[in-house]
Amino acid sequence: MSIVFLNDSFMPMEEAKISPMDRGFLFGDGIYEVVPSYDGKLVGFAPHIERMNNGMREIGIDFNWSVEQWRDVCQGLIEKNGSGNLGIYLHVSRGADSKRFHAYPEGVPPTVFAFAFEIPAAPVADKTQAKGYKVSTTRDLRWERCHIKSTALLGNVMHFQHGYSQGANETLLFNANNELTEASACNAYVVKDGVVATPPLDNQILPGITRYMLLDILRKDGSIKVEERIVTMEEVFAADEVWVTSSSKEIAAVVEVDGKPIGNGQIGDVWEAAQKLYSASKYDY
Ligand code: PLP
Repeated sequence: MSIVFLNDSFMPMEEAKISPMDRGFLFGDGIYEVVPSYDGKLVGFAPHIERMNNGMREIGIDFNWSVEQWRDVCQGLIEKNGSGNLGIYLHVSRGADSKRFHAYPEGVPPTVFAFAFEIPAAPVADKTQAKGYKVSTTRDLRWERCHIKSTALLGNVMHFQHGYSQGANETLLFNANNELTEASACNAYVVKDGVVATPPLDNQILPGITRYMLLDILRKDGSIKVEERIVTMEEVFAADEVWVTSSSKEIAAVVEVDGKPIGNGQIGDVWEAAQKLYSASKYDY
């Protein structure tokens, strides 16, 4: 994974240099994406680029590459680093100003950076083989603009570390009303009596591309009912199944929350059915 893309060219990682005055470095002032790719095939590419463009528009970064330009960068990274199970990281920061000043600078070109990293193989929809996640919980202490996929991730990093330091795979987050928001790097779901529920899109959660595709796939198929609504902490602990989703994990079944088993403590049937449907349609986006 040694060839990266910086600004307008591919180069070995060691040659990729950015200014310490880059606002991505000084302020976390940028937008990023992670697009999964398996054997050279990108998953959810168009929606990923659309979300990145939405984020840049929202924070006033004037940068309008076409979907084709982004695709060339992704394909270039895949070709140069070898296909397999890859996450393609795309990043646009507001660029390097001559001074450290909070206001958006004028006439400063954004910094574009992309690299590929290995991700786990996509889950096989077989509950006897899949890995069950153990997660911790904590109060969601991030900002009120969680729908923006900002490179300023310290809040998420600290929440992830909360679970990680206790041996957990993720951390579920709850707002001041004890309502589920998401996880530190995933969207979150409960399943009860065969119905999947996930918090609605608002400023408290990232509009996950895996979430978007999963809900669309389940609705089109129709065999599993889905709801976007407030999910309470009580519902999480009383759920038959809990899932988290992200581009590098697809759907991960959670079998334990804060040391308490979810359902019977095993990966559930609804997970298996949903992952099967997701695996069958994920390249259609
Ligand atoms: N929520 C947060 C906070 C995330 O960081 C991520 C992924 O990085 C997700 C949700 C899942 O988003 P996606 O499915 O687009 O990877």
